[in-house]
Amino acid sequence: MQLYKNQTLKVSNSLSGKKEVFKPINEGHVGMYVCGPTVYSNVHLGNCRTFMSFDMIFRYLKHLDFKVRYVRNITDAGHLVDDADDGEDKIAKKARLEKIEPMEVVQRYTVDFHNILQKFNFLSPSIEPTATGHIIEQIEIIKDILNKGFAYEINGSVYFDVKKFNEKHEYGKLSGRKLEDMISNTRELTAQDEKRNPQDFALWKKAEPQHIMRWPSPWGDGFPGWHLECTAMSTKYLGETFDIHGGGMDLKFPHHECEIAQAEASNGHGPVNYWLHANMLTMNGKKMAKSTGNNILPNEIFSGENSILSKPYAPSVVRFFMMQAHYTSILDLSDEALLASEKGYQRLMDSLGIVDSLQTSKESSIDIAAWKKKCYEAMNDDFNTPILIANLFEAVKNINLIKEGNETISAKDLTDLKDTMNSFVFDVLGLERTSDAGLDSDKLSGVVSLLIQMREEARANKDFATSDSIRDRLAALGIQLKDGKEGTTFSIS
Ligand code: AMP
Ligand code: ZN
Repeated sequence: MQLYKNQTLKVSNSLSGKKEVFKPINEGHVGMYVCGPTVYSNVHLGNCRTFMSFDMIFRYLKHLDFKVRYVRNITDAGHLVDDADDGEDKIAKKARLEKIEPMEVVQRYTVDFHNILQKFNFLSPSIEPTATGHIIEQIEIIKDILNKGFAYEINGSVYFDVKKFNEKHEYGKLSGRKLEDMISNTRELTAQDEKRNPQDFALWKKAEPQHIMRWPSPWGDGFPGWHLECTAMSTKYLGETFDIHGGGMDLKFPHHECEIAQAEASNGHGPVNYWLHANMLTMNGKKMAKSTGNNILPNEIFSGENSILSKPYAPSVVRFFMMQAHYTSILDLSDEALLASEKGYQRLMDSLGIVDSLQTSKESSIDIAAWKKKCYEAMNDDFNTPILIANLFEAVKNINLIKEGNETISAKDLTDLKDTMNSFVFDVLGLERTSDAGLDSDKLSGVVSLLIQMREEARANKDFATSDSIRDRLAALGIQLKDGKEGTTFSIS
């Protein structure tokens, strides 16, 4: 029997602001859409957190035996520099600065995105459609919205008429805003503005002669507005109404609000039953973002080549660090937090390593069924991974007690314990064993630190031949030593 039949999953729906029992439209099937990256730069760790939250959700839904169609798009056109309707296309700008084709930018950063996600052990989505691959679908939706009177054309651009929409619908219901407040808080339109209202947003923008990313349309050469691609691709692959739409909190407004408006204007009803929003990764207490420079790239963490962390951390350790926070909570990245996660991760892996060699008894002195139930209850409560991890550590404690002969376990319970641990650690949390992760970072750091110490001793004895040899031989292995005021640190290339 499918697992979901015995479990009651609850999710935090941003639309209602409540935790609701999750009931898919078609029993046993889930349609999930998550806004993907705009591929004009390397993904930073903040971006990865949001995608990882939904990777975990995808994994748990699959674990419950739902058949999931997971669509995560690639934004390769239409996302302008100001995140609204002005400025250059982010990808075109990068192409201009680097003197390469926009599609070279797209290719480079899509490959980077996939490489990083693979290192983090992400599952591939079922479909990964691109905005440029769905221009025709986007034009069809614009025609439909125009026909229904919720948009207007002016000088080759088409704008969504928010005021008109709000007469019969509720613009702002997802982000908890009122159109009247938005109007009173914005500046007057200036003479050169084409929009009827500042709140209106572009469905199609006329391409100025210098704009290279352009397509023909009934309104002349142009390009689609950023919000439209997600409406076009989610409708095409998941239908007019689907189960889950996800993304980072920062996309709630205007992006997701506009998606709702477009879909309601076109179809007459809302597109999504459950809106899920993942919270932000911060660094030094501030949101990690490309634009402010307050960010770190995953590869800089894996190699240790950064000025923030004391040592390299393996992808699974970073993943474990992310999973220790609830996906709707803010999480701050720091060296102390990563060091603690590394220790915890190692303890979990060590425990999984000894579980096979445990002696079984006739009776169990611990209640494995009750423990297993608590693991499911944690995940059923809006994917509460920190509580799940606390339960996994309860098992770690019990495994040690059994090993020491202070508790007992029956053969049947041991199989159940092992299967449950493996399912949650590897299938649901998506962790990998240190050896699979390619870097037993704790032990490696220990060995390099030992060599650094030996080099210092050699230097103190004026044995420069030995100290140089240690440095050069480590460099040949791809481990660079850096001498600084605080002592010697290392990075791995
Ligand atoms: P973008 O490529 O800018 O469209 O962003 C891709 C995804 O990363 C979106 O879902 C954003 O909400 C998310 N994101 C951006 N910054 C952060 C952050 N600091 N923490 C978590 N998610 C983020
Ligand atoms: Zn989107």
